[in-house]
Amino acid sequence: MAPSASRRGLLIILSSPSGAGKSTLARRLMAWDPTLKFSVSATTRAPRPGETDGVEYFFKSKSEFTAMVAAGEMLEHAEVFGNFYGTPKGPVAAAMTEGRDTLFDIDWQGGQQVRNSDLRHDVVSIFILPPSIADLEARLRTRAQDTDTVIAGRMAKSRDEISHWAEYDYVIVNENIEQAEDEVRTILRAERMRRDRQPGLSDFVRGLNREFDARNPG
Ligand code: GDP
Ligand code: ADP
Ligand code: 5GP
Repeated sequence: MAPSASRRGLLIILSSPSGAGKSTLARRLMAWDPTLKFSVSATTRAPRPGETDGVEYFFKSKSEFTAMVAAGEMLEHAEVFGNFYGTPKGPVAAAMTEGRDTLFDIDWQGGQQVRNSDLRHDVVSIFILPPSIADLEARLRTRAQDTDTVIAGRMAKSRDEISHWAEYDYVIVNENIEQAEDEVRTILRAERMRRDRQPGLSDFVRGLNREFDARNPG
């Protein structure tokens, strides 16, 4: 029988310049593995068409957001493109103790804060790069959910965002979405198999030793 003691859930951080494909990857990964939990951030940005409060984000006023930060309810928070974004702590702690892995679609500032927190040993960080800047802009336009001004602002920040690539454990170029998804799956499979993430291993090996000794008396 395989070792079964439950491990703590992983914190899988996806970051990228806006439009590189984080949300698309997160959606596909959750369809692949329904046990994955998406960390729903709080934000002061206005909902896009089709976004539902509590699904993509918890949409908050500035004062509600500030109150959550003041009450210590955020695992991390940052200002991104003129709005505030933050990760509520409660659901993350719950998922970790349930042994469920959580996906975070957060920017590099949030990535740094989580990596520097006491949860650092449970973090797997992945940076997504676009195949080209032209593709990045085309994707923001085909997503058709932001105004020209917002798109221009996000494109202007893309160089700065990309400059943080080397802070991440893994880097994926999202040229082909199927391949990019497969690459993330490979990362998750390997990270879940790490020795220090398999808490049942010592007991399992003790069992193998007992079996060996029983079969080889004296
Ligand atoms: P479907 O298109 O109806 O199958 O739903 P999806 O699984 O694609 O999810 C729709 C939206 O909900 C996406 O924006 C996801 O990011 C988000 N989502 C997916 N799974 C979860 C989850 O476990 N928790 C939360 N809060 N959001 C999720
Ligand atoms: P992010 O969450 O990083 O801002 P999205 O996941 O919203 O980015 O992707 C931006 C747009 O690019 C979406 O319209 C999405 O469908 C599209 N897209 C994502 N990955 C690819 C890809 N490999 N090839 C072509 N289009 C893609
Ligand atoms: P969008 O408005 O396109 O959904 O997100 C804009 C940026 O904010 C993206 O880079 C996204 O990763 C980041 N972001 C979303 N939620 C959070 C969060 O909770 N914390 C931080 N630090 N960044 C976030």
